[in-house]
Amino acid sequence: MAILVCGGAGYIGSHTVRQLVEAGEEVIIADNLSTGHLYAINPAAKFYECDIRDKVALKKIFAENKIEAVFHFAAYIEAGESVLLPLKYFSNNVCGMEILLEAMTESGVDKIIFSSSAAVYGEPERIPIDELDKTVPTNPYGESKLIMEKMIRWVSAAQGVRYVSLRYFNASGAIEDGTLGEDHHPETHLIPLILQVPLGKRDHITIFGDDYSTPDGTCIRDYIHVVDLAAAHLCALKYLREGGESNFFNLGTGHGFSVKEIIEAAEKVTAQKIKTMLGERRPGDPAKLIASGEKARKILNWTPRFDDIEKIIATAWNWHCIHNK
Ligand code: UDP
Repeated sequence: MAILVCGGAGYIGSHTVRQLVEAGEEVIIADNLSTGHLYAINPAAKFYECDIRDKVALKKIFAENKIEAVFHFAAYIEAGESVLLPLKYFSNNVCGMEILLEAMTESGVDKIIFSSSAAVYGEPERIPIDELDKTVPTNPYGESKLIMEKMIRWVSAAQGVRYVSLRYFNASGAIEDGTLGEDHHPETHLIPLILQVPLGKRDHITIFGDDYSTPDGTCIRDYIHVVDLAAAHLCALKYLREGGESNFFNLGTGHGFSVKEIIEAAEKVTAQKIKTMLGERRPGDPAKLIASGEKARKILNWTPRFDDIEKIIATAWNWHCIHNK
């Protein structure tokens, strides 16, 4: 039986597909290529160019293939944009999830692994953030992910679908062979934007606020390597296959780095001085997000391999150098 990967042409989806294929799984990708890339589609996977809001197209995929489980990566992800365009997020993320769950349940597919986000917590009550902490998103993106989690939970209770929701902290880095990486247009994420400076594609990096209540005044995030995120999905699949009950997990390293620390680390990795400018705070940005990753380690047996921020940035730098040749 096959794994259907919605959003398998995107950043985290394509890295996960690689690991699924390497593990000998049969993989089907559904992606509308709105933010994903044709070049990132694994040649060993069967590809359907389709939008998850298109129920007819989705039902056709379920009818033509024997699907065991769905991995759902297909969503918009920009917190800043979501504040300006909330309905874009509710349409694609929330309505997309509704249609996907309808198609799944009508086709008898009962396992889903969902890409959730640390953004569901909003401004955290305490650090590190535990899975049972309050979820009060500060932007529509986080709200959409929280609604999607709740939708799965209710469908699970009513229709017996089992799920694992994975709340990613800051996905970063690239596969070490440099064949896949972070390639958003326009790019809004910190590490790739910083690397555009030494690549000569950008004059400087803007620091979004230095008056947060953190030691150097800039926001702190938990940067988790994309290969480790991908590996967590395979652990989650094993967990569900072995009969594990529906559950949700943080995926992070448990260590936080400020914007300024990331810029310093990138200067070391690239051996270049990176010009910075100070800008306004970005709306909806919490000061500090660090995961408690204990639950995933204990229950999913997940152990992240990358625990050094310079090594993480080095894999991103390797990808950008190859990709921008
Ligand atoms: N950030 C920044 N300048 C940029 C892009 C991001 O200072 O050009 C900051 C942003 O405010 C946040 C951190 O870097 O504190 C990580 O942002 P990113 O968009 O990479 O991920 P997010 O935390 O929003 O998921």
